[in-house]
Amino acid sequence: MLNIIIFGPPGAGKGTQSDKLIEKYNLVHISTGDMFRAHKQNQTPLGLKVQAIMDSGQLVPDSITIEMLEEEVSKNPHAKGFIFDGFPRTVPQAAALDKFLTERNEQIKQVIQLDVTESEVKARIEERKKVSQRADDEQLTRRLEEYFGKTIHVLPHYESQHKVTKVNGIGDIEAIFGAICASIDKVA
Ligand code: AMP
Repeated sequence: MLNIIIFGPPGAGKGTQSDKLIEKYNLVHISTGDMFRAHKQNQTPLGLKVQAIMDSGQLVPDSITIEMLEEEVSKNPHAKGFIFDGFPRTVPQAAALDKFLTERNEQIKQVIQLDVTESEVKARIEERKKVSQRADDEQLTRRLEEYFGKTIHVLPHYESQHKVTKVNGIGDIEAIFGAICASIDKVA
């Protein structure tokens, strides 16, 4: 299975590139952010539980996130592979994902790190605020704190497994996609 993590700060282009990747490689897109937003929108018990946390720009607790993720992966037993977008965001989440995949004789093949500067991310989120109604885009500072405080530590976890490829995330969307595909094609 082709299991890929697309990694980067909020506004790095993870969702945009994931949409293109799932089409090209016929993979299942797993975005924990999209899943939480759907729960919130539908006011499910999980949505009600996490909405204040999300709106404040903080991370949802690991136990909740991991359980939701594992359930979603399990729903797709015939998938050719997954694009994990916005997960794992903490080292315990990465460890849980490794364990979950290993138990199924699977593994993460590659982590694509979208490299974008903080100023670029801030500019992009300002633009996104004009067209989207994401309450948490108002909380960008907090979300970047979560990213640099917790999520960035996921990288060394996968670097020690020699799985991380850094791709320049600034510039033309197609050019970025080309660079990502060139990297994935080496492990696919
Ligand atoms: P995103 O769309 O990926 O930026 O996610 C939106 C929000 O959902 C985040 O700011 C968190 O509150 C929550 N969230 C998404 N993925 C995770 C995760 N892997 N761990 C914890 N919280 C998450």
